[in-house]
Amino acid sequence: MRWSKTLLTTLREDPKDAEIVSHKLMMRAGLLVKLEGGLYSYSPLGVRVLHKVEQIVREEMDRAGACEVLFTALQPISLWEESGRAGIMGKSMFRLRDRNDNTMVLGPTHEEVATDYLRTLVSSYRQLPATVYQIQTKFRDEIRPRFGLMRCKEFVMKDAYSFDLTSEDADVSYQKMYDAYLRIFKRCGLDAHPVEADTGAIGGNHSHEFMVLAPSGEDGILHCPACRYAANQERAERQAPPCDYATPSAEPRAKVATPGAHTVDEAAAALGIPSDQVVKSLVYLADGKPVMVLVRGNADLCEPKLRRLLGCGELEMADPETTARAAGPFGSIGPIGVSIPVYADYGLREARDVAVGAGEEGFHVAHCNLMDDPDVKIAQWADLATVVAGDRCPKCGAPLELARGIEVGHVFKLGLKYTKAMKFTVLDQNKQSVTPVMGCYGIGVSRTVQAIAEQNNDKDGIVWPAAVSPCQVALLQLDAKSEAVVAAVAEIESKLEAAGADVLVDDRDERPGIKFKDADLIGCTVRVTVGARSLEKGGVEIRLRRTGETQLVPVADAPAKILGLLAAN
Ligand code: ATP
Ligand code: MG
Repeated sequence: MRWSKTLLTTLREDPKDAEIVSHKLMMRAGLLVKLEGGLYSYSPLGVRVLHKVEQIVREEMDRAGACEVLFTALQPISLWEESGRAGIMGKSMFRLRDRNDNTMVLGPTHEEVATDYLRTLVSSYRQLPATVYQIQTKFRDEIRPRFGLMRCKEFVMKDAYSFDLTSEDADVSYQKMYDAYLRIFKRCGLDAHPVEADTGAIGGNHSHEFMVLAPSGEDGILHCPACRYAANQERAERQAPPCDYATPSAEPRAKVATPGAHTVDEAAAALGIPSDQVVKSLVYLADGKPVMVLVRGNADLCEPKLRRLLGCGELEMADPETTARAAGPFGSIGPIGVSIPVYADYGLREARDVAVGAGEEGFHVAHCNLMDDPDVKIAQWADLATVVAGDRCPKCGAPLELARGIEVGHVFKLGLKYTKAMKFTVLDQNKQSVTPVMGCYGIGVSRTVQAIAEQNNDKDGIVWPAAVSPCQVALLQLDAKSEAVVAAVAEIESKLEAAGADVLVDDRDERPGIKFKDADLIGCTVRVTVGARSLEKGGVEIRLRRTGETQLVPVADAPAKILGLLAAN
């Protein structure tokens, strides 16, 4: 590839809207061109990285026994109605109408289409197990597209779907994908960790995310240094913290004036007790119906846990009017005597002497015994609090640590959720009809590209691992007027390309300093400088991007030397 033909343009300055290092570098290196927020085009170099990651994914999927297919991105809404997900996807799913006024969607994911594909083709147990996968563009109307390829409205995903006769077989399929994911991320040069995860709108009850640790990551990960437990903050559990107010007070329950106290801390100050002893009461609308949630004063509600408990689609904080009607004004909400269902976090399980909002502006109720008060009806105790650093590991009790991560992959055991809803059955050995057990497995291919840049960079630019580098060799032609230089460049270029290496010849009429800077910014694995001066000194200068190690090598030996470096890096 000749630079002069690529329209490739690098930028000296970081784009204003780029907040994280990989986004800045991908833009500055000219790998991406922004159309608008959440929509990016790949340049000739950007698309090479994408294709290389896709190829690694493809090879490992094939190795794990999955078969590549290609579904349509455009799907009829009727499939989503069949699975019961049309409502759950809410506004994140792009909907449109065809000329006959049928509602169609642009696929945010393909569980329904995959299930339909299988039920069209499979009728006997002999055809199972089967795993299909595709690499395809997905569409999601994200609330906040940001960070370049990390969160786009249109992105490339590898999605796979497994179908098995029994739950035990499904576990084997899941494990094969899990192992393939570990190999994929390793080959991409990524340090990715599997963690227990929430299943969100996809469903099922068991899943792992693959997380690339990075301070810029959007996900919180709780991990235990003692027993290796690791889970997304949306899912992480904890052993309930000790309770300092487990003994009922000698004093009776009492309404106390707390004028102007609206937050937990303000109420605690007014009552002269620690914040943790004031119960945080929240009212939510779950699919439009109000519910109350109680957590400890110093804890936060973990919304994904509540969503999972209630099995609802839309979940939002109730508006002030609904809240006031159900449980009192904001700042004084409380559970005493309310008629909406109340869900309480396990952290309050021993709470026999706490303060709660009185349901009346300016008042709280002190010495409330949550466990035994006949006026407090807890519909269900559940794990609802957000786990934070220092909480005790659910497995071994050691203090948990918090890290940030980028979710690059996600594997799910779905059970019968889709196959049952979509009436996919096969006949087993005894001619009995059985519903296959399903799993689904996603990799954000385009997000992975940028996660690699996020984990592999230095002050000069991106340091792509050779396996995914957009150009393994930057061949800098310094003096276009010198016939010897032009000939040496052509010779090295053709030998390297014949050996299958990606070469970018910088044949621009630019100063050497600019060419050096750009080669480093783009992150070519090896930089080869061919100039009249280097030829006089006896050859070409070969420099390894990762270490900066430089050597002068005769033109005739250069291709072999370069290929050796590529193989080793
Ligand atoms: P997130 O929690 O980041 O929104 P998700 O859990 O909704 O992602 P999945 O449905 O599990 O995503 O999709 C599989 C993979 O696709 C994710 O692990 C992620 O790598 C990638 N992905 C999801 N949404 C986006 C997006 N908007 N832009 C780029 N990649 C995405
Ligand atoms: Mg996910």
